Amino acid sequence: MTSSVSSPLPLVKVAMPPRERLMPALEEVLYSGMIGEGEAVYEFERRFGEQFGLPRALATSSGTGALHVALLLSGAGPGREVITTSMTAEPTNTVIMQTGATPVFADVDPDTGNLSPAAVQAAVTERTAAICVVHYAGYPADLAALRAIADRHEIGLIEDCAHALGARYAGKPIGTIGDSAIFSLQAIKHMTTVDGGILGLRDPAQTLLAKQLRWFGLTKGVPRTEVDIKRPGFKYNMSNVTATIGLQQLDHIDGLIARHCNNGRFFDRELAAIAGIKPAVVLAEANPSYWIYTLLADNSDEVEQCLAAIGVSASKLHRPNHFHSAFAPFAGPMPGLDSFYQRLVHIPSGWWVGDEDRQRIIDALAKG
Ligand SMILES: *Cc1c(COP(=O)(O)O)cnc(C)c1O
Repeated sequence: MTSSVSSPLPLVKVAMPPRERLMPALEEVLYSGMIGEGEAVYEFERRFGEQFGLPRALATSSGTGALHVALLLSGAGPGREVITTSMTAEPTNTVIMQTGATPVFADVDPDTGNLSPAAVQAAVTERTAAICVVHYAGYPADLAALRAIADRHEIGLIEDCAHALGARYAGKPIGTIGDSAIFSLQAIKHMTTVDGGILGLRDPAQTLLAKQLRWFGLTKGVPRTEVDIKRPGFKYNMSNVTATIGLQQLDHIDGLIARHCNNGRFFDRELAAIAGIKPAVVLAEANPSYWIYTLLADNSDEVEQCLAAIGVSASKLHRPNHFHSAFAPFAGPMPGLDSFYQRLVHIPSGWWVGDEDRQRIIDALAKG
């Protein structure tokens, strides 16, 4: 029995900073008497923003919480609509419904899995508050076209970058073209703080309200006996403990993301030559960060079985959200999504995929 069979190469994997760096830092913060939101959180926000090119980054308890706040800032609420994708993890859409807004599912491009600008344009109404775009699997969507639609109709553009930390579009860091952007620091994303999120904001004028919505509607720094809640907020703040993990992660995350990208580009080159399989299309302006690799196969079941036989996890990973009863009423025909999902197979492309692993994957797929 080979080791690859006893422990398959996973599709996703938790990355922790080196124990000898993390444990002393964690011990220090845990016994510091300041475990809630404080200086470690603010330092983490500042360094995360610097490292990933975000002018304003607010740390939250989850990517979901960050997205909830981003949606509220865009005006999403009862009587309004948010144009969104079904080809995503469920939190993108559960949180739209939690604002009271109606999700409007627009079709995706069959070769990228990302929102089709033409479908988004066709879905705009006078009730539209925002477009919520997901850079699915780490592949940037057509941000130039979506930004133009948002500007033309004066609606918000929210980037769900939960899969796309470290990606770029038109030379710009992902998350800086939308009015807001969210990142997830949940266990299996590129970078984790166990749980956590980041809200990036383009307009500095929204920062205060965003911070209030993160903390019950209260303003930090104003004495509790004088502060006034105008709009009830949530408990979406990050703690010094998780921020300490985040600070340690920032020291080594660039190398890990570079390895995702290197593996992704390798698969893009090598898969192009294999019959019956093609890589997901990467837009000319896009530099994906390949959280998971997306290939499109004439027969996706066969590809999954072929890789299972050599001890490599491969799957569709997600369920189009409109397959859920809660979202089904908001979806019309989506031929682009149907075509994408039928052919979709994700294969591992993360930092744990070594040169031999990726060659083994290509060899197995080439043999068929
Ligand atoms: C993970 C994820 C989220 C939510 O992030 P959490 O940090 O788990 O709350 C949102 N959108 C997408 C596309 C995700 O994959």
